[in-house]
Amino acid sequence: MSFPETARDIRKAVLEGSVSAVEVCRAALDRSIAAQPLNAFNLLMTERALERAAAVDRARAAGQPLGALAGVPIALKDNICVRGVRTTASSKILEQFHPPYDATVVHRLEDAGAIVVGKTNCDEFAMGSSNENSAFGPVRNPWSLDRTPGGSSGGSAAAVAAGCVPLALGSDTGGSIRQPASFCGIVGLKPTYGRVSRYGLLAFASSLDQIGPFGRTVADAALALSAMAGVDGADATSAHVAVPEYGAALTGNVQGLRIGVPRAFVSEGVDSHVRRAFDEALDVLRDAGASIVDIELPHARYAIPVYYLVCTAEASSNLARYDGVKYGYRAAGVETLQEMYSRSRDQAFGPEVKRRIVLGTYVLSAGYYDAFYLKAQQVRTLLRRDYEEAFERVDLVAMPTSPVPPFRLGEKTEDPLQMYLGDVFTVSANLVGLPGISVPCGFAGQDGALLPIGLQLMGRAFEEATLLRAADAFERATRWHKEAPPN
Ligand code: GLN
Repeated sequence: MSFPETARDIRKAVLEGSVSAVEVCRAALDRSIAAQPLNAFNLLMTERALERAAAVDRARAAGQPLGALAGVPIALKDNICVRGVRTTASSKILEQFHPPYDATVVHRLEDAGAIVVGKTNCDEFAMGSSNENSAFGPVRNPWSLDRTPGGSSGGSAAAVAAGCVPLALGSDTGGSIRQPASFCGIVGLKPTYGRVSRYGLLAFASSLDQIGPFGRTVADAALALSAMAGVDGADATSAHVAVPEYGAALTGNVQGLRIGVPRAFVSEGVDSHVRRAFDEALDVLRDAGASIVDIELPHARYAIPVYYLVCTAEASSNLARYDGVKYGYRAAGVETLQEMYSRSRDQAFGPEVKRRIVLGTYVLSAGYYDAFYLKAQQVRTLLRRDYEEAFERVDLVAMPTSPVPPFRLGEKTEDPLQMYLGDVFTVSANLVGLPGISVPCGFAGQDGALLPIGLQLMGRAFEEATLLRAADAFERATRWHKEAPPN
């Protein structure tokens, strides 16, 4: 039996009764098991998922109203808490952590009828761009198994691309939704800072972290955002801004929309396939009626150093809680409290997490705070002003999502700086709190494999509707999202 592929169609079919939520759920679980070589899942929630799907079917049979995501299977990055379900952030330190509460996004999606089927693999504590920093091994890219799916939300992206689930959630601190979406040939949306509650997200860098959806279509991403956005009393950083029905924004019309391109910034160090796909994407948007405008972002070239100072500083503080006392891994055979702290952390954090804690502690230390952390925050303000000025002239800003197509597993693991530089186009959105989306815009053909390329659009704060409208119009005018990976 074949099932509808998108969240929108699944919901419709469940409503009509042409499939049951349980059948859809079983199919998602079967596909996730069949996709095991990708290592996209840390855990499948088989029993819980089937029970909830049965509840949706019962509600339908009883004639009760069904939510906007009724019967839609969804996967969660393993740094999003589900009560009683092991949540690890792909770290050994949380190998046995079972949170006593649900993240707000889990509540909201389940209230809308979504079925959470599993927790996805990611870089440890969301630190990375390739999913190779996971305590549970790397995720493989469904387009080419020896390549990275991107990171840090690589498992969520791979699970959606491989057709295990139509929707998944990730977190994006410096690109971790947009870059894996780009690498896996799907849609990934990082909402405005404050748009989606982070209650129940294991914190990495609190002034940058946002939760957002992955889907195979822009419409599905819009559906998920509508279900989870909005103020939450449990997260003081969530914003009191009304939530529109994002699906209604997808009119296909971008006539007169002004799209800014920071030419100088995107001209350096970009792979030739990416450059060509990006230029062609701009032509598509122009043909659809948008005007393409040159803009300048004079401080964008400082975004990488600023990001890696701010995120490591915040991470060193956030990760201080994993000390072997309250929860998480505790080293055995220690004699003093100090030894317990240091051995627990030494044994259970991976090398990248340690590197960032050490860097972050250094940049916050008394002698260096002014030179590094404070300076970074000042440059962050200059970057914000660049964007404020740009958004007086344009409605959206376009860039490639990643300067390169998906690279080989192991290719950059010995050189953290090379890995960090790949985040050049994504970190700004987080530093200035703006929404960004990645949509498929082409492929690089290499060694017989098709390697996906993504177009990134950024918008004004809380104007996800405009972002989604342009992304959807682009999707309607192209066929990239119709391709399916071989694995
Ligand atoms: N790749 C970036 C980093 O390593 C972003 C990670 C993220 O967005 N969680 O920090």
